[in-house]
Amino acid sequence: MKIAFHGAARTVTGSKHLISLTNGKKILLDCGMFQGMGKDTDTLNRNFGFNPAEVTCVFLSHAHVDHSGLLPRLVKEGFKGKIYATPATIDVTKVLLQDSAFIQKQDTIFMNKRRREEGRPLLEPLYTEEDAANVNAHFVPVHYHQPIQVDKDIQLEFFDGGHIIGSATVFVTLMEDGKRSTLVFSGDVGRYGDPILHSPETFPQADYIIIESTYGNKVHGPIESYMDDLDRQIQETCIHKKGKLIIPAFSVGRTQELLYALNDLELAGKLPPLKYYLDSPMSTKITEIVKQHPECFNRSLQKLFKIDSDPFHFKGLKYITDKRDSQALNSDYSPMVIISASGMAEAGRVKHHIANGIGNWRNTILIIGYCEPQSLGARLKLRPETVTIYGMPFSVKADIRTIDSMSAHADYNDLCQYLACQDQAEVKRLFIVHGEAEVQDEFKKRLLKKGFKDVEIPELHQEFGISP
Ligand SMILES: [Zn+2]
Repeated sequence: MKIAFHGAARTVTGSKHLISLTNGKKILLDCGMFQGMGKDTDTLNRNFGFNPAEVTCVFLSHAHVDHSGLLPRLVKEGFKGKIYATPATIDVTKVLLQDSAFIQKQDTIFMNKRRREEGRPLLEPLYTEEDAANVNAHFVPVHYHQPIQVDKDIQLEFFDGGHIIGSATVFVTLMEDGKRSTLVFSGDVGRYGDPILHSPETFPQADYIIIESTYGNKVHGPIESYMDDLDRQIQETCIHKKGKLIIPAFSVGRTQELLYALNDLELAGKLPPLKYYLDSPMSTKITEIVKQHPECFNRSLQKLFKIDSDPFHFKGLKYITDKRDSQALNSDYSPMVIISASGMAEAGRVKHHIANGIGNWRNTILIIGYCEPQSLGARLKLRPETVTIYGMPFSVKADIRTIDSMSAHADYNDLCQYLACQDQAEVKRLFIVHGEAEVQDEFKKRLLKKGFKDVEIPELHQEFGISP
């Protein structure tokens, strides 16, 4: 069989890996969208590097758009098979794909307005909301630890990846020419000791491993410290400077973690009486879905449910859905906390809040998640004197702060713990994906030192022959 890496190869987005069996069957692991790759992004997303009509089935590790975002395009270009994912992943993916189509529609209208004026050719979105809805009929729910026989040669089992709600380690058993081989795809690996989710689970011995490496050379701060950090940021910004604390947060995962942390501060009697806004219809929807999947919560959260019926809600929290209510915050100068998407501040309402608040020294923009190097979040992290937003320069007077300990991604120690269930000598080859090049090089060196004998870092569209 062969395996080809059509995304998240020497970068962190566009996760897409194609296993081709000698009998002609093809399994696609994830179907993610490239994001934040500058002017190349669109071209990358329009060229799969394989024929979608020839793909037999998709195994989806989790809902994040950089892992699921091109499913509508896959179906549009002729994919007819099934998409296997956990029930929570299916629920969240449906919402994210609709949102992705909607954002593309808005962006295309905006860009075409200018192009029309300039007499340039008009753009088409990657897919429409209807294309996104067409994906739904392909989903097949698979629960953790319930192996299913996809066909006589392909078996699939999911283990909890602990990264976001529903996320899975994908364990595949393949029969080829009467020989059995096993392959594990990590998807994105979560952290051990996450406040909401289970820790990443162990999985059976694999012949081949495809592992993410987002933070393959870093060690995060301790998870417990982020509550204190958050508490400090609220005190400094909202109480002492009387400003706005603007937090870009991914709708899935980070938003619920923040709500949970603020709820925890309230339970500890430490949450100041302020206005707290969750200004993102998407984040509100996802939070509702999360509440419907308690099977994904860890033991301490299950326990908390017994004394607090809603651990994602606290006094002072308001959900904003109407755009006008969001815009009204621009002219409200009282201290407040605004949590809004997107997490990298590249799109969504948070971009407006940043543009509106960045010129005021009282305000703080708090970056708490991974940001693609070219995204607004990453540019702000460098604390520049001016920053370009919507094509206009803004001088940066607000404080820019970061909390790194809130990452949903495993750090180097977590990744080692994740791999600790494997006998290195039994692993025939390990592929490093989903990381920036220099991080991957360092991670590779460390894995070789740990005893993994054959470690590859695939280039985009590179294909490897692997024997059973
Ligand atoms: Zn992810």
